Amino acid sequence: MEKPEGLKRISKSVTHYLDQDARGNKNSERRSDSFGSNRALSRRQIFALSGGAIASAALPAFAQPAPPSSKLDSELPFGLTGRFCQGGFAAGRGTPGADIVVDGQSRGPVGPSGWFYVGFDRDAGPTCHITLRTAKSQDSAIVGILPVTYDVQRVDGLPQDTVTPQDPALLERIKREAALKAEAFASRIDSDAFHRGFDWPLNRFVVSGHFGNQRILNGTPSSPHMGFDMAAPVGTPIHAPQDGLVVLAEPDLFYEGGLVLIDHGQGLISMYLHQSQVFVQKGQWVRQAQPIGRVGAKGRATGPHLCWRLKWSDRHMDPSLMVVNRTA
Ligand SMILES: [Zn+2]
Repeated sequence: MEKPEGLKRISKSVTHYLDQDARGNKNSERRSDSFGSNRALSRRQIFALSGGAIASAALPAFAQPAPPSSKLDSELPFGLTGRFCQGGFAAGRGTPGADIVVDGQSRGPVGPSGWFYVGFDRDAGPTCHITLRTAKSQDSAIVGILPVTYDVQRVDGLPQDTVTPQDPALLERIKREAALKAEAFASRIDSDAFHRGFDWPLNRFVVSGHFGNQRILNGTPSSPHMGFDMAAPVGTPIHAPQDGLVVLAEPDLFYEGGLVLIDHGQGLISMYLHQSQVFVQKGQWVRQAQPIGRVGAKGRATGPHLCWRLKWSDRHMDPSLMVVNRTA
Protein backbone atom coordinates (compact mmCIF):
# COMPACT_ATOMS: atom_id res chain seq x y z
CA MET A 1 0.00 0.00 0.00
CA GLU A 2 1.20 3.50 -0.77
CA LYS A 3 2.04 5.47 2.30
CA PRO A 4 -0.53 8.28 2.47
CA GLU A 5 0.89 11.74 2.86
CA GLY A 6 0.50 13.45 6.18
CA LEU A 7 -0.09 10.34 8.23
CA LYS A 8 3.29 10.14 9.82
CA ARG A 9 2.32 12.05 12.91
CA ILE A 10 -0.88 10.30 13.88
CA SER A 11 0.43 7.67 16.19
CA LYS A 12 -1.22 8.89 19.34
CA SER A 13 -4.63 9.57 17.91
CA VAL A 14 -4.82 6.22 16.22
CA THR A 15 -3.78 4.33 19.30
CA HIS A 16 -6.48 6.17 21.22
CA TYR A 17 -8.98 5.06 18.63
CA LEU A 18 -7.89 1.50 19.13
CA ASP A 19 -8.08 1.84 22.87
CA GLN A 20 -11.68 2.86 22.56
CA ASP A 21 -12.33 -0.44 20.86
CA ALA A 22 -10.63 -2.16 23.73
CA ARG A 23 -12.81 -0.36 26.25
CA GLY A 24 -15.95 -1.03 24.25
CA ASN A 25 -15.17 -4.70 24.50
CA LYS A 26 -14.52 -4.41 28.16
CA ASN A 27 -17.66 -2.57 29.12
CA SER A 28 -20.33 -3.62 26.71
CA GLU A 29 -19.31 -6.91 25.16
CA ARG A 30 -17.69 -8.77 27.97
CA ARG A 31 -18.97 -12.04 26.64
CA SER A 32 -17.73 -11.85 23.10
CA ASP A 33 -14.33 -10.21 22.89
CA SER A 34 -11.07 -12.10 22.75
CA PHE A 35 -7.40 -11.79 22.12
CA GLY A 36 -8.37 -12.47 18.51
CA SER A 37 -9.99 -9.08 18.22
CA ASN A 38 -7.01 -7.56 19.94
CA ARG A 39 -4.66 -9.07 17.43
CA ALA A 40 -6.56 -7.23 14.75
CA LEU A 41 -6.29 -4.10 16.83
CA SER A 42 -2.65 -4.59 17.45
CA ARG A 43 -1.85 -4.91 13.78
CA ARG A 44 -3.34 -1.49 13.23
CA GLN A 45 -1.65 -0.29 16.37
CA ILE A 46 1.69 -1.39 15.05
CA PHE A 47 1.14 0.63 11.91
CA ALA A 48 0.14 3.56 14.04
CA LEU A 49 3.16 3.26 16.23
CA SER A 50 5.53 2.92 13.36
CA GLY A 51 4.03 5.66 11.26
CA GLY A 52 3.86 3.16 8.41
CA ALA A 53 1.18 2.65 5.81
CA ILE A 54 -2.31 2.93 7.22
CA ALA A 55 -5.70 3.25 5.61
CA SER A 56 -7.33 6.59 6.20
CA ALA A 57 -10.61 4.75 6.86
CA ALA A 58 -9.06 3.55 10.09
CA LEU A 59 -8.93 7.10 11.40
CA PRO A 60 -11.74 8.19 13.69
CA ALA A 61 -13.52 11.46 13.00
CA PHE A 62 -12.03 13.00 16.13
CA ALA A 63 -8.46 12.15 15.21
CA GLN A 64 -6.09 15.03 15.84
CA PRO A 65 -2.44 15.20 14.86
CA ALA A 66 -0.32 14.11 17.77
CA PRO A 67 3.40 14.19 18.48
CA PRO A 68 5.25 11.45 16.64
CA SER A 69 6.42 8.41 18.49
CA SER A 70 10.16 8.05 18.66
CA LYS A 71 9.90 5.22 16.15
CA LEU A 72 8.89 6.32 12.67
CA ASP A 73 9.43 4.91 9.20
CA SER A 74 11.30 1.84 10.24
CA GLU A 75 10.68 -1.69 11.45
CA LEU A 76 7.43 -2.33 13.27
CA PRO A 77 8.15 -2.32 17.00
CA PHE A 78 7.47 -5.30 19.24
CA GLY A 79 4.34 -6.75 17.58
CA LEU A 80 2.36 -5.46 20.53
CA THR A 81 -0.95 -7.06 21.36
CA GLY A 82 -3.16 -6.67 24.40
CA ARG A 83 -5.75 -4.29 25.84
CA PHE A 84 -4.66 -0.70 25.83
CA CYS A 85 -6.82 0.68 28.62
CA GLN A 86 -6.46 1.30 32.34
CA GLY A 87 -6.14 -2.09 34.05
CA GLY A 88 -5.10 -3.63 30.73
CA PHE A 89 -1.78 -4.79 29.37
CA ALA A 90 0.50 -5.16 26.38
CA ALA A 91 2.43 -8.25 25.35
CA GLY A 92 5.09 -8.04 22.69
CA ARG A 93 8.24 -9.51 21.21
CA GLY A 94 11.78 -8.30 21.53
CA THR A 95 15.38 -9.41 21.69
CA PRO A 96 15.80 -11.92 24.53
CA GLY A 97 17.64 -10.27 27.37
CA ALA A 98 16.91 -6.70 26.21
CA ASP A 99 16.11 -4.35 29.07
CA ILE A 100 12.41 -3.39 29.21
CA VAL A 101 12.08 0.27 30.18
CA VAL A 102 8.53 1.39 30.93
CA ASP A 103 7.86 5.08 31.50
CA GLY A 104 11.55 5.58 32.25
CA GLN A 105 11.81 2.71 34.72
CA SER A 106 13.73 -0.49 34.05
CA ARG A 107 11.45 -3.52 34.44
CA GLY A 108 13.86 -6.38 33.85
CA PRO A 109 14.83 -8.34 30.75
CA VAL A 110 12.81 -9.71 27.84
CA GLY A 111 12.33 -13.45 28.39
CA PRO A 112 14.38 -16.18 26.67
CA SER A 113 11.63 -16.80 24.10
CA GLY A 114 11.48 -13.10 23.22
CA TRP A 115 8.10 -12.37 24.84
CA PHE A 116 7.65 -9.51 27.27
CA TYR A 117 4.73 -8.11 29.25
CA VAL A 118 3.77 -4.62 30.37
CA GLY A 119 0.82 -3.97 32.69
CA PHE A 120 -1.20 -0.73 32.79
CA ASP A 121 -2.48 -0.02 36.27
CA ARG A 122 -5.82 1.34 37.43
CA ASP A 123 -4.86 4.97 37.02
CA ALA A 124 -2.45 4.61 34.08
CA GLY A 125 -2.28 7.02 31.23
CA PRO A 126 -2.83 8.78 29.02
CA THR A 127 0.22 7.15 27.42
CA CYS A 128 2.76 4.48 28.23
CA HIS A 129 6.29 4.74 26.84
CA ILE A 130 7.88 1.33 26.22
CA THR A 131 11.56 1.02 25.27
CA LEU A 132 13.59 -2.13 24.66
CA ARG A 133 17.28 -1.48 25.12
CA THR A 134 20.25 -3.65 24.24
CA ALA A 135 23.94 -2.79 24.09
CA LYS A 136 23.54 -2.19 20.35
CA SER A 137 20.04 -0.83 19.87
CA GLN A 138 17.07 0.93 21.36
CA ASP A 139 13.46 0.66 20.14
CA SER A 140 10.59 2.67 21.54
CA ALA A 141 6.84 2.86 21.23
CA ILE A 142 4.23 5.10 22.78
CA VAL A 143 0.95 3.37 23.58
CA GLY A 144 -2.21 5.38 24.22
CA ILE A 145 -4.09 4.20 27.34
CA LEU A 146 -7.82 4.75 27.40
CA PRO A 147 -9.31 5.81 30.74
CA VAL A 148 -11.97 3.66 32.39
CA THR A 149 -14.78 5.02 34.56
CA TYR A 150 -14.90 3.33 37.95
CA ASP A 151 -17.99 2.98 40.11
CA VAL A 152 -18.32 3.61 43.81
CA GLN A 153 -19.16 0.39 45.64
CA ARG A 154 -20.48 0.20 49.20
CA VAL A 155 -19.71 -2.94 51.16
CA ASP A 156 -21.43 -3.21 54.55
CA GLY A 157 -21.51 -5.96 57.13
CA LEU A 158 -17.77 -6.66 57.23
CA PRO A 159 -16.35 -7.52 60.67
CA GLN A 160 -15.08 -4.12 61.87
CA ASP A 161 -11.63 -5.47 62.79
CA THR A 162 -11.10 -6.30 59.10
CA VAL A 163 -11.66 -2.65 58.18
CA THR A 164 -9.89 -0.84 61.01
CA PRO A 165 -7.74 -3.42 62.85
CA GLN A 166 -6.50 -2.24 66.29
CA ASP A 167 -5.53 -5.30 68.29
CA PRO A 168 -1.69 -5.48 68.54
CA ALA A 169 -1.63 -9.24 68.03
CA LEU A 170 -3.77 -8.83 64.94
CA LEU A 171 -1.57 -6.02 63.62
CA GLU A 172 1.43 -8.28 64.11
CA ARG A 173 -0.28 -11.06 62.13
CA ILE A 174 -1.15 -8.65 59.31
CA LYS A 175 2.48 -7.50 59.17
CA ARG A 176 3.79 -11.08 59.09
CA GLU A 177 1.42 -12.03 56.31
CA ALA A 178 2.28 -8.88 54.33
CA ALA A 179 5.94 -9.97 54.39
CA LEU A 180 4.98 -13.41 53.05
CA LYS A 181 3.08 -11.82 50.19
CA ALA A 182 5.86 -9.33 49.43
CA GLU A 183 8.33 -12.18 49.08
CA ALA A 184 5.99 -13.99 46.66
CA PHE A 185 5.38 -10.85 44.61
CA ALA A 186 9.14 -10.51 44.05
CA SER A 187 9.05 -13.70 41.93
CA ARG A 188 10.01 -13.38 38.27
CA ILE A 189 10.32 -16.69 36.43
CA ASP A 190 11.47 -17.35 32.87
CA SER A 191 8.14 -18.32 31.38
CA ASP A 192 6.13 -16.85 28.53
CA ALA A 193 2.84 -18.53 29.55
CA PHE A 194 1.22 -15.08 29.88
CA HIS A 195 1.20 -14.47 26.14
CA ARG A 196 -1.36 -17.24 25.58
CA GLY A 197 -3.88 -15.39 27.75
CA PHE A 198 -6.17 -16.81 30.42
CA ASP A 199 -9.21 -19.03 30.77
CA TRP A 200 -11.80 -18.15 33.41
CA PRO A 201 -10.80 -19.72 36.75
CA LEU A 202 -14.45 -20.72 37.45
CA ASN A 203 -16.77 -22.57 35.08
CA ARG A 204 -19.86 -20.74 36.36
CA PHE A 205 -20.06 -17.49 38.28
CA VAL A 206 -21.84 -14.18 38.68
CA VAL A 207 -19.74 -11.01 38.54
CA SER A 208 -20.14 -9.42 41.97
CA GLY A 209 -17.51 -6.68 41.84
CA HIS A 210 -15.56 -5.01 39.06
CA PHE A 211 -11.90 -4.09 39.06
CA GLY A 212 -11.07 -0.57 40.15
CA ASN A 213 -14.24 0.32 42.04
CA GLN A 214 -13.82 2.99 44.68
CA ARG A 215 -14.93 1.26 47.86
CA ILE A 216 -16.67 2.34 51.01
CA LEU A 217 -16.25 -0.43 53.60
CA ASN A 218 -18.68 -0.29 56.53
CA GLY A 219 -19.15 3.41 55.71
CA THR A 220 -15.39 4.22 55.61
CA PRO A 221 -13.84 5.30 52.28
CA SER A 222 -11.18 2.70 51.47
CA SER A 223 -8.59 2.00 48.80
CA PRO A 224 -9.94 0.96 45.38
CA HIS A 225 -10.87 -2.65 44.79
CA MET A 226 -8.09 -4.23 42.74
CA GLY A 227 -9.89 -7.52 42.06
CA PHE A 228 -12.52 -9.00 39.80
CA ASP A 229 -15.11 -10.64 42.09
CA MET A 230 -16.82 -13.83 40.93
CA ALA A 231 -19.64 -15.08 43.15
CA ALA A 232 -20.10 -18.87 43.26
CA PRO A 233 -21.13 -21.43 45.89
CA VAL A 234 -18.64 -22.52 48.54
CA GLY A 235 -16.70 -25.51 47.23
CA THR A 236 -16.78 -24.53 43.54
CA PRO A 237 -13.47 -25.67 42.02
CA ILE A 238 -11.01 -22.94 41.00
CA HIS A 239 -8.80 -23.71 37.99
CA ALA A 240 -5.45 -22.26 37.03
CA PRO A 241 -6.24 -19.91 34.13
CA GLN A 242 -2.84 -20.53 32.54
CA ASP A 243 0.39 -22.42 33.29
CA GLY A 244 2.56 -21.02 36.04
CA LEU A 245 4.55 -21.48 39.22
CA VAL A 246 2.76 -21.35 42.58
CA VAL A 247 4.72 -18.77 44.57
CA LEU A 248 2.40 -18.67 47.59
CA ALA A 249 -0.23 -21.10 48.88
CA GLU A 250 -1.67 -20.32 52.32
CA PRO A 251 -4.85 -21.88 53.76
CA ASP A 252 -6.04 -19.02 55.96
CA LEU A 253 -4.65 -15.48 55.87
CA PHE A 254 -6.37 -12.71 57.78
CA TYR A 255 -7.56 -10.61 54.83
CA GLU A 256 -7.46 -13.16 52.05
CA GLY A 257 -8.48 -16.46 53.69
CA GLY A 258 -7.14 -19.28 51.52
CA LEU A 259 -4.76 -17.56 49.08
CA VAL A 260 -2.83 -18.83 46.05
CA LEU A 261 -0.44 -16.74 43.95
CA ILE A 262 0.74 -17.96 40.52
CA ASP A 263 3.64 -16.46 38.53
CA HIS A 264 2.91 -16.74 34.78
CA GLY A 265 6.25 -15.29 33.72
CA GLN A 266 7.78 -11.80 33.62
CA GLY A 267 6.58 -11.31 37.20
CA LEU A 268 2.93 -11.39 36.14
CA ILE A 269 1.25 -12.86 39.21
CA SER A 270 -2.39 -13.87 39.48
CA MET A 271 -4.11 -14.16 42.87
CA TYR A 272 -7.04 -16.24 44.17
CA LEU A 273 -8.54 -15.01 47.43
CA HIS A 274 -11.00 -16.27 50.08
CA GLN A 275 -10.59 -19.96 49.25
CA SER A 276 -12.21 -22.51 51.55
CA GLN A 277 -9.62 -25.09 50.52
CA VAL A 278 -6.22 -24.86 48.81
CA PHE A 279 -5.02 -27.82 46.73
CA VAL A 280 -1.55 -26.68 45.68
CA GLN A 281 1.75 -25.91 47.36
CA LYS A 282 4.39 -23.23 47.02
CA GLY A 283 6.98 -24.25 44.39
CA GLN A 284 4.52 -26.41 42.42
CA TRP A 285 4.15 -25.94 38.67
CA VAL A 286 0.49 -25.88 37.63
CA ARG A 287 -0.98 -26.34 34.18
CA GLN A 288 -3.86 -24.45 32.65
CA ALA A 289 -7.24 -25.82 33.92
CA GLN A 290 -5.66 -27.67 36.84
CA PRO A 291 -7.73 -27.32 40.05
CA ILE A 292 -5.90 -25.14 42.60
CA GLY A 293 -8.56 -24.84 45.32
CA ARG A 294 -12.20 -24.15 46.12
CA VAL A 295 -14.31 -21.02 46.40
CA GLY A 296 -14.96 -19.86 49.97
CA ALA A 297 -15.75 -16.83 52.08
CA LYS A 298 -12.68 -16.81 54.32
CA GLY A 299 -10.85 -13.62 55.20
CA ARG A 300 -12.46 -10.23 54.58
CA ALA A 301 -15.54 -11.32 52.63
CA THR A 302 -19.28 -10.99 53.11
CA GLY A 303 -20.17 -14.09 51.10
CA PRO A 304 -18.68 -16.88 49.00
CA HIS A 305 -16.81 -15.59 45.97
CA LEU A 306 -13.46 -15.70 44.26
CA CYS A 307 -11.65 -12.36 44.32
CA TRP A 308 -9.36 -12.74 41.31
CA ARG A 309 -6.46 -10.31 41.08
CA LEU A 310 -3.49 -9.68 38.85
CA LYS A 311 -0.29 -7.86 39.68
CA TRP A 312 2.87 -6.99 37.79
CA SER A 313 5.52 -5.47 40.05
CA ASP A 314 3.82 -2.44 41.65
CA ARG A 315 0.96 -2.36 39.14
CA HIS A 316 -2.48 -3.90 39.56
CA MET A 317 -4.40 -5.01 36.48
CA ASP A 318 -7.87 -6.40 35.74
CA PRO A 319 -7.40 -10.19 35.30
CA SER A 320 -10.64 -10.52 33.34
CA LEU A 321 -8.97 -8.54 30.52
CA MET A 322 -6.52 -11.42 30.09
CA VAL A 323 -9.27 -13.92 29.32
CA VAL A 324 -9.07 -15.12 25.72
CA ASN A 325 -12.50 -16.66 25.30
CA ARG A 326 -14.91 -14.50 27.25
CA THR A 327 -18.05 -16.47 26.36
CA ALA A 328 -17.78 -18.69 29.46
ZN1 LIG B 1 -12.44 -8.68 45.45
